[in-house]
Amino acid sequence: AARNGEDGVRGYAPAMGQVFLRRFQLVTQFRQALDSGQVEVHYQPKVALPGRQVVGAEALVRWSHPEYGRLDPDEFVPVVEATGLVDALTSFVLERSLVKIREWLDRGLRMSVAVNLSVRNLADEAFPDRVAEALRRHDIAPELLTFELTESSVMADPERALPVLRRLHAMGVVLAVDDFGTGYSSLAYLRQLPVDEVKIDKSFVLGMGTALGDMAVVRTIVELGHSLDLVVVAEGVEDDAAREQLVAMGCDVAQGYLISRPLSEERLEAWLRARTKK
Ligand code: C2E
Ligand code: CA
Ligand code: CA
Ligand code: CA
Repeated sequence: AARNGEDGVRGYAPAMGQVFLRRFQLVTQFRQALDSGQVEVHYQPKVALPGRQVVGAEALVRWSHPEYGRLDPDEFVPVVEATGLVDALTSFVLERSLVKIREWLDRGLRMSVAVNLSVRNLADEAFPDRVAEALRRHDIAPELLTFELTESSVMADPERALPVLRRLHAMGVVLAVDDFGTGYSSLAYLRQLPVDEVKIDKSFVLGMGTALGDMAVVRTIVELGHSLDLVVVAEGVEDDAAREQLVAMGCDVAQGYLISRPLSEERLEAWLRARTKK
């Protein structure tokens, strides 16, 4: 927040200028970053509870910027999302993810990958056809691909998003509501969405150990999800206590630092090897 007095004002203006400059740079540089290998997809494993079986992974984008170093997606994804470039981002992550799924299938591993969609993808009526084409090209069954979408991205323009979601769902692609519990419309709306999975937002899962309210929210979402026949996934599982609580509640799938951080392709493969040896 800006403080009173001249100092505060003078301190504020250049800082804002830098933020805008940096955002502008990120937008103008992103296309080339995609083409020149600065952008990578990392994967965070998901396991079926109560056991340890790896059921798939979430694809999470990473940008190694030549000047700013490793950029967090929370910094550049919203900037990219504000432009048409998000189509290129989604296509890039989808393509990498399908290559990965195909590679696993060729080795006898059946694991799914979850790709994050943005509001623009949901407003793009041609998107489902591009997905269908990509699945065919890689010869991958649609149920091995999951799309994660937030309620707010659906609510931005439900009239456009719903037909896109229905098409994807009819094709057999798995749809998951991400960051569940953070929007307003949650309960009533969930019933009407063509989705298969609900992901409990990590803020609630992280709070379970210390806040009774968060524990109640998590339990309620698990029960609500199951009453709607949805698979319930918890993200942000950082310790054994949280994992055990989730098992006791009947949560289906866990994702979080306890199981693994998001890993580069190479490190994921090493992680999978070590895991199957045990
Ligand atoms: P998200 O979809 O909610 O992804 C989960 C975030 O939680 C990831 O942050 C992940 O690294 C982090 N996380 C996982 N386990 C734990 C844990 O146990 N504890 C804590 N504290 N955090 C955990 P990340 O990778 O920084 O991604 C941030 C957000 O950027 C994502 O949130 C997603 O909204 C967006 N994003 C990432 N990749 C893509 C992409 O390819 N496309 C789009 N449209 N958005 C993306
Ligand atoms: Ca996600
Ligand atoms: Ca999430
Ligand atoms: Ca998020």
